[in-house]
Amino acid sequence: MIKKFLKRVFRKSAKPKAVGNAQVIPFGLHGVAREQISYGALKVTDGLQAAGFQAYVVGGAVRDLLLDRIPKDFDVATDATPEEVRRVFRRSRIIGRRFRLVHVMFGEEVVEVSTFRRMIEAEDAQTDEHGRLLRDNEFGDQEQDAARRDFTANALFYDPATQEIFDYHGGYADTRNHLLRVIGDPLVRYREDPVRMLRAVRLSAKLGIKLDAATAAPIATMKNLLDNVPQARLLDEVLKMLLSGHSVECIQHLHKMNLHHGLLPLLDVILEHPVGEKFIMLALRNTDERISQDKTVSPAFLFAALLWHEVLAAWNLRVQQGGRPVGAMHEAMDEVLARQKAQLAIPHRQDAVMKEIWLMQQRFEQRSGQRPYRLLEQPRFRAGFDFLLLRCASGEVDEELGLWWDEFQDASAERRAEMLQPEGAGDKKRRRRPRKKKSVNGAGGETHEPSASESAE
Ligand code: ATP
Ligand code: MG
Repeated sequence: MIKKFLKRVFRKSAKPKAVGNAQVIPFGLHGVAREQISYGALKVTDGLQAAGFQAYVVGGAVRDLLLDRIPKDFDVATDATPEEVRRVFRRSRIIGRRFRLVHVMFGEEVVEVSTFRRMIEAEDAQTDEHGRLLRDNEFGDQEQDAARRDFTANALFYDPATQEIFDYHGGYADTRNHLLRVIGDPLVRYREDPVRMLRAVRLSAKLGIKLDAATAAPIATMKNLLDNVPQARLLDEVLKMLLSGHSVECIQHLHKMNLHHGLLPLLDVILEHPVGEKFIMLALRNTDERISQDKTVSPAFLFAALLWHEVLAAWNLRVQQGGRPVGAMHEAMDEVLARQKAQLAIPHRQDAVMKEIWLMQQRFEQRSGQRPYRLLEQPRFRAGFDFLLLRCASGEVDEELGLWWDEFQDASAERRAEMLQPEGAGDKKRRRRPRKKKSVNGAGGETHEPSASESAE
């Protein structure tokens, strides 16, 4: 009772105070306690401060704690140079070439420590012809470090020793009001780094907070700037969206803002096809669920799902033109991957897995002789089967096929033998020539003749 009363009085008397250009928000107001900071981040800030440096938890972690979310990781910002940080922590290493950061290791936890840096003044800045910053690697102070960050909510510094938050851009009030706002002029900041537009979409979707009007407005006209962003960075950001645990919301936001063009250009085509859309949304929902259950998610599986209906369409076209099913499938896969590579640099190492998943789909329909046994031995059977279940759930193939494989996997030897279909059933199908179809994309249940699964092993 007394405790509660004291807390109320304390909260009432807690007010931000100005220190230089910062508003310092006391614990009594924001309520983020030192105990909410990870073991490693506390070790880093305590260690650096004991060595005479400034050190704060910064960025996404402070924002997430204010929003009552569990931070993914804890980053630290300091006035110590990377070499000085290295000297304080034995188990650490310097990473990055353009801007050097230090990773400090505590068992499984890795704390990323960055030295305060400043935005380079317009006349010194190296930009490309569209205004995109090519270099921003000058050391600076805390205030300058706040100004070079993207959103006000991402520019808060938390000192675990005093439990105070340093705020230079009104990020505390914005976060409390569930608003994501660009620091400075959005036009300039998006030109410097167009990826900030995607970050705006991802963070607002993931955190369930709104984009401030001035932050959202220029995106429609500036989205073409994304064409100049190096592909590897785009892929990075797209993967962050897909693996954020909120991929469905991210895709919906992207779609709403018309931002998916040039990112996953095929998404456009796919989303116009009802079965394709259902399939992708199921795949994304499935991914979000796995992430919320702390299960692993493979990017290759996700890309295989996103591109599946493109592969089907390309395959169908070839088969209609008289191509043999298996050969047509290989050509279709190569064509779709090549087209997608021009937009998003999906690494080659994902190709093999994607192709395995796709090719397995053809083999699920063969349920006679030794074939099902051989398929079970495939190292990626599980991924292929999960993919098949998505196809069933989206209405692309008959539910019965998924149920059959579900049972066959765990059945006894006798039951498996009983389940096998008579030899020859698949052969007849294999010899059949595809009929002409109305739709180019033969993914639809109703126009599903022939299916990708009908071709031979
Ligand atoms: P997440 O929860 O996804 O990790 P985050 O905000 O921590 O979100 P990071 O990519 O880890 O995102 O970036 C850490 C911090 O670096 C951000 O909070 C922001 O202050 C700054 N930052 C990241 N990307 C940019 C950018 N493109 N422009 C300016 N500042 C950025
Ligand atoms: Mg982060």
